[in-house]
Parts: sequence; C-alpha cells; structure tokens
Amino acid sequence: MRTTYQTTNGTGLDRSSLPMRLWEKAKKYGIWNPADIDFTQDKLDFKKLTEVESKFLMQAISQFQAGEEAVTLDLLPLIMAVAKEGRLEEEIFLTSFLWEEAKHVDGFNRWINEVSSYAGTSHESLHVPSYNLIFNELLPKALNAVKEDPSPINQVRASTTYNMIVEGVLAETGYYGIYKVLDSHNIFPGLREFIGKLKQDESRHIAYGIYLISRLVAENGEEVWEAFQDQMNQLLMPAMQVVIESYSEYEVVPFGIDVDDLNQYAMGQFQKRLARVEKARNQNLAEIDADLLALE
Ligand code: FE
Ligand code: FE
Repeated sequence: MRTTYQTTNGTGLDRSSLPMRLWEKAKKYGIWNPADIDFTQDKLDFKKLTEVESKFLMQAISQFQAGEEAVTLDLLPLIMAVAKEGRLEEEIFLTSFLWEEAKHVDGFNRWINEVSSYAGTSHESLHVPSYNLIFNELLPKALNAVKEDPSPINQVRASTTYNMIVEGVLAETGYYGIYKVLDSHNIFPGLREFIGKLKQDESRHIAYGIYLISRLVAENGEEVWEAFQDQMNQLLMPAMQVVIESYSEYEVVPFGIDVDDLNQYAMGQFQKRLARVEKARNQNLAEIDADLLALE
C-alpha cells in the first residue's frame, strides 16, 4: 500500500538530478517526427547503387532496424524495476527513452519501405552470427533476468548489455560509420538527417545507462562493480566481432569505408565507458551526479 507521494509530501522532484536534466533535453530534442523526413533524394540515390553497395548498405540498415526493434521490446523490465523502487525522476526520463526507441523502429521501417528495394521481403540472412548472438540471445536474456529478479546485480548486467554494449558500442559505432560514409559521398540526405537525430537520442540513453550503473555501483559496492566488469568483458569479443563480421565478406569494402577506423572507434567507446564507471567506485551519488552533469 502507498502512503505518501513525493510530489505532494514536500519532497518534490529533484530537478537538478541527471535523469531530470536528461528529461528536459528529451522534451526539447527528442520530439522530432520520422514521418517529416524527406526521402525524395534517398529514393534516387538508392537506384544508383551497385548491387554490392545496396547489399552492404541494407546489411547495416537491417541490423539497425532489428536492433531498434529488440531494444524497444526488451526495455520494459528495467523500467519496471526502477518504478518499483519509486525512483520517479528516472521513470519520468525512461518514458521518453522507450518512446524514442519506438520512433527509431518507425523511422527505419519507413526508409526500408519507401527507399530500399527490400520492402516486404526478409533480409534477416544479412544479419551476421555475432549480431544474432547478442540481439537474439544475450540482450533478451539479460533484460528478462530483471523481470524474474530485479536485484542490483541483474540490473547492472541488463544495463551493461543494453546501454554500454548494444547502444554504447554497437549502435554508436554503426551510426558513426554509416553517417560518415554517406556524408563524405553526399548521398542519402534523408537517412543522414534521421541518423543525426537518432544519435542525439542515443547519447541521452547512454548517459542514463552510465548514471544507472554508477548509482548501482555506488549503492551496492564491489559485488556490483565486479558484475559490471564481468559483463563488459564477456560482451567485448562478440561486440567487436559484429563490426568485423559485417565487413569481412567484402574483398573491397564498399564506399571506401575505413575498417580500422571503425574498430578503433568501437574499442574507444568501450574503454571510455569502462573508465567512467570505474570512477564511480569511489564516488557517492552527489559526486556521480555532479561529474556526469559536467560532461553534458
Ligand atoms: Fe534507438
Ligand atoms: Fe537507444
């Protein structure tokens, strides 16, 4: 039974907290509509691609599309855990998080149907084996464990898989690589506009993940830090493999993509997050908040 309310008992909302700051940003920058993006030029550009180029681009898009679907379907157990603990500010932000993932599914679906030649066909054979391991097995497993038992260790494993690896390494590297190559060739302006907006949304999601993991480490100590580290280490190889497998079948990688640059970018993202959470081992919640706000 509930006896009191944070918003009516004098406590109020902690508007200076990172989740509320991210919520303010989400209300300002997260309200774009995928349906408003003009794909006229994209349709012309797709017709000009060679067979290898269109397959390569579609492999990336298909993995983005399925990945956005996976994170939309899998997020709820984490939101439920946060709500159960009465963390109102975090749940307020998480409403925008789930809505944004739905928007990402919506946008890729529009692009596939209106721009590509793959509408109404299955393109799942383009998903590489390590991708299937992460998105079909490890991600839903980590999030479902929170539904069964929302312990701090299960929450940290879920957020590490979801926010640090899937979003922080895979999505960020994929969007960085595709955006860069389309930009340098000055093609697919609609897709670039979409990915540019999506990257902004993702940066808020990852910032929340860093906050959540840091909070769980600060509140629960060494055991949770070790679970975080263990999960990162378990997922590093499969995550790097997704990047490698997506390029390995091409003798000459289409669009002149620099594979070393992508590998370094992925590794850099991984190490950046590991270092940030490591710092939280010796911080209290106020210090974590202050540090993360300074990064904004
Ligand atoms: Fe997304
Ligand atoms: Fe996301």
